[in-house]
Amino acid sequence: MHSSTNPSETLKPVHWQRLLEISRTLSSTLELQPLLRQVLEVATELTDTEGASILLLDSQTGELRFAAATGQVNIGDNMVVPLEGSIAGWIVLNGKPLNLEDVQADDRHYQGIDVATQSVTHSLLGVPLLTREKVIGALEVINKKQGAAYTEQDLTLLQSLASQAAIAIENARLFQQSDLIAEIMHELKTPMMAITASTELLMYDQVKQEQRAELVKIIQHEVRRLSRMTRDYLDLARMESGRLNLEHQAVDLAVIVTEVIHIQRPQANNRFITLVYEGEMAAHPIIGDADRLKQVLLNLVSNAIKYNRERGVIAVRLNCLNGELCLSVQDTGEGIAPEHLSHLFQRFYRVPGSETKSEGSGLGLSIAQRIVEAHGGRITVESVIGQGTTFSCWFPLA
Ligand code: ADP
Repeated sequence: MHSSTNPSETLKPVHWQRLLEISRTLSSTLELQPLLRQVLEVATELTDTEGASILLLDSQTGELRFAAATGQVNIGDNMVVPLEGSIAGWIVLNGKPLNLEDVQADDRHYQGIDVATQSVTHSLLGVPLLTREKVIGALEVINKKQGAAYTEQDLTLLQSLASQAAIAIENARLFQQSDLIAEIMHELKTPMMAITASTELLMYDQVKQEQRAELVKIIQHEVRRLSRMTRDYLDLARMESGRLNLEHQAVDLAVIVTEVIHIQRPQANNRFITLVYEGEMAAHPIIGDADRLKQVLLNLVSNAIKYNRERGVIAVRLNCLNGELCLSVQDTGEGIAPEHLSHLFQRFYRVPGSETKSEGSGLGLSIAQRIVEAHGGRITVESVIGQGTTFSCWFPLA
């Protein structure tokens, strides 16, 4: 077997074809175990090898564990491998590949594996599983067939596979952690509502030309927001793990309030609800992400409409108080009983009986809270049964 300085030259079209094929399959597989099996299958096939294994870092405990294995490797469920004192551990800690002709002669080799698998590892090729931000584990193939050593070509193929696999694994894990589908649906709802309302209005002959232009603008704006959201939907799940990427720009909340009121007015009108702004118009910039902040306010106002009584009132306020900027939404709905208040920001929590009043997933407020907190702020709620509810977002002034 030869070893080339430019490995890509030695790759056959059949290999690239297989990699391309697998990248399509991997990106559409959201269940972790089937995904790992596919990766192992392709890894053994591409490198002409006896066995393969995938080890993943447990994000909670920091332990490195076997997540899946094939071929002669038959690892007990989730066996832990020491980070210090194992080959996989070395790959993960260093973020580098390792090509060993004789594993037994390497003192990083973790003997526990051979004992557990009742097999002997001779040659090994391992690569880190790298996502955009970090190493999440390692992909290893062991015992090249015919006792030969792994080549540069094997390394190129395995690295290419690993980079696709890492992204797919990350996606599958996020999908498992969070009910991502429900979350996405919820996020899509608000812009969809704005678009639906605007298109409905456009069908009325009475709507004036300049209003039409305005509505088209809203539609364009919301469509852009939708496409940004589809791109960003994984970011939303990342909030869970505190890895949300926020813009850091000067944002004028007064502008956001005006936009949100404009968008929500048709929904409020449908229920004869008065929607007023009682804030200072002066600009009070905070540093943050305009889209996310708008998402928060859209949620609060849309809730205030949904859970209000017909012909009720909604007051949106923006005030400076003791070095903080307070953005609040007050409604004249039924109010929320004290025993439910503390649960409102939990995912999927809905006050019993809400289902009959309005559609919802119980995700909006937990997302809103995460966004506000990611801006260094906090969100509070006060409610009086029979009178209404006020949600307030407090932000440090820029
Ligand atoms: P959703 O509205 O989709 O159910 P949210 O997370 O936005 O999800 O809200 C969670 C729950 O909090 C709602 O189901 C509802 O029971 C309650 N809630 C939210 N806002 C209000 C409000 N303004 N007035 C009364 N109840 C509310």
